[in-house]
Amino acid sequence: MKSLWNDEAAAVYRNDDLGMRVYSSRLLGADKNLVMHGGGNTSVKATIEDFFGRAIKVLYIKGSGWDLETIEKAGFPAIKLQETQMLAELETLSDTDMTQQLRALMLDPSAPSPSVEAILHAILPAKFIDHTHTDAIVTLSNNPQGARILEEVFPDCLVLPYVMPGFILSRQVNGAIKRDDPRHYKGIILQHHGVFTFSDEAKIAYGNMIELVSRAEAYIAENGETRVATAENKFDLLNLARIRNAVSLVRGEAQLGILDRSPSAQGYSALGTVSEISSRGPITPDHVIRTKRIPVIIGANPAKGVPEIQQYAIDYTKYFEENHTAQLQMLDPAPRVGIWRNAGSIAFGSSLKECNIISDIAKHTRHAVQIGESIGGWQALSAEDIFALEYWVLEQAKLGQNTAPKKPHQGKVAIVSGAYSGIGNATCEALAAEGAVVVGLDINPEVVSQLGCDGMLGLECDLTNSNAIAVAVDHVISLYGGLDIVVCNAGVFKAGERIEDHTECTWSETLDINLTATQRLMTAAIPYLKWGIDPSILIVGSRNYAAPGPGAAAYSVSKAGITQLARVAALELAANGIRVNIVHPDAVFDTALWTEETLARSAARYDISVEEYKTKNLLGKTITAANVGRLLSTMASDVFTATTGAQIPIDGGNDRVI
Ligand code: ZN
Repeated sequence: MKSLWNDEAAAVYRNDDLGMRVYSSRLLGADKNLVMHGGGNTSVKATIEDFFGRAIKVLYIKGSGWDLETIEKAGFPAIKLQETQMLAELETLSDTDMTQQLRALMLDPSAPSPSVEAILHAILPAKFIDHTHTDAIVTLSNNPQGARILEEVFPDCLVLPYVMPGFILSRQVNGAIKRDDPRHYKGIILQHHGVFTFSDEAKIAYGNMIELVSRAEAYIAENGETRVATAENKFDLLNLARIRNAVSLVRGEAQLGILDRSPSAQGYSALGTVSEISSRGPITPDHVIRTKRIPVIIGANPAKGVPEIQQYAIDYTKYFEENHTAQLQMLDPAPRVGIWRNAGSIAFGSSLKECNIISDIAKHTRHAVQIGESIGGWQALSAEDIFALEYWVLEQAKLGQNTAPKKPHQGKVAIVSGAYSGIGNATCEALAAEGAVVVGLDINPEVVSQLGCDGMLGLECDLTNSNAIAVAVDHVISLYGGLDIVVCNAGVFKAGERIEDHTECTWSETLDINLTATQRLMTAAIPYLKWGIDPSILIVGSRNYAAPGPGAAAYSVSKAGITQLARVAALELAANGIRVNIVHPDAVFDTALWTEETLARSAARYDISVEEYKTKNLLGKTITAANVGRLLSTMASDVFTATTGAQIPIDGGNDRVI
């Protein structure tokens, strides 16, 4: 492992303890082999002035919710050092009391809560404390000969057996360092958990961490195999959608299913031993709240209903029954990681962020397991120990599940056509704001940059080409595992085209985009929607369907056509649980269909001003693309769960329609 320390960069913080703490914490956070996604923690001890100007010794400790990679000074709440040290002397301390006391010792009550390892950091007699869950050292520990190997590789470290993190761990270390001054050691190795290094110099604490990890890496290189299995196989996208459906049903809510089909993921999933070696447990118990204890192993061609997922839920319930002690409530029994034989590794989660964390951990885990096998066998902590951490309230609190209300489309995947501007763009934003991952299709290549953030993705797609649409839909499944919502919105509007002026070309161009492209997108999406969660097709029609006007025959015919298409689709797809509904907007002027010129022409036709024309409806309202987007998003939600084949006007009220 390479040291990232830079004397010049560090010199800036010579007289700034907390600045220095941020600097070297970020160095640790920059290497995922050291810490991953909120894992690990660091601290610095300093003397500061309290509110009354008195000098007071404090511990700046990583606050919960912060990541070492991106931590700032605000991520280190200051707590009173002496009182924190006194907590380690108590015989017992409940989780509730520990949380409460640590919060009471904070100098700024509005700062984030201190790490659950705060007491341990406080009692270590050094200024800078670094703690990681580094793969390499924990891999040596997760071995039948783990204790012997650690002793051999780390004769200059204090090696302690595994205990629960938090107060119990701080008591264990407190006892050990009273017997044996830790300043004689380069670090403390906690079996199956991680490593602490410490020094009054940030550079030495960090340097020792790098040295200890490098030693573990050298042992592995000498005694084992650092290359992992690789493979490149094809897989069936419809099977991926079926797997994701089965997991969502067990979880009780829509889940993204992000398939890692990299050569190393496929290689691992193709190993003859994979179901056995991947089911022994995680690298460090810290991962269990993200990944559960073990993954589900899914056959290359799963049978109907994907029975492996059902079996996983049964086994999880058994694991809960066998290990639960107090009045615990079982968490959902759905897997977070799927090893899909030959195809790769799937991360199941409610958001892209959650899935990325799970994917990263799964990747590090499969590497660690294979390396562990090569140096004498992968052996994780007992299910009982893992369970204790999985159900530890302080761990579950890290997920913050109780604080964030669930959004209506969380875990769902949506496709919107004609997404670059107007109603399409506003619909993407509305669906994404309500939790969906949204892919917007558009002929305009700028859709890619337009939608490239906040759970939205733009894909350039020619909707007049069936093959291009099929490729785009398949791409969405390969990225997110399934499809739940399709909004057919793309359309063109050519005003002032009287029937006598139509050419075959102008007529078919409008029909091709407004009508046939809708059929093309539905045809490509339906096989996947059948495996969606509360799946829904939404059609953007027009007031013109019920109340046509002169000069837009092709447009009106196309909107009447998709209305009829949607009605047939509602009849055909109800048995599959797919809802098909239509909105009929009118006078939405903040869209690409309306230019200043077409607006002026339309207003002139009624002999009124443009402003009057814009609110020429019964309610006298201005209707925006965002209004339509929000309606469409709501119609895809469970508010409309019992509605299909419906047509809803969004036109401010029109006497010809009413
Ligand atoms: Zn830890």
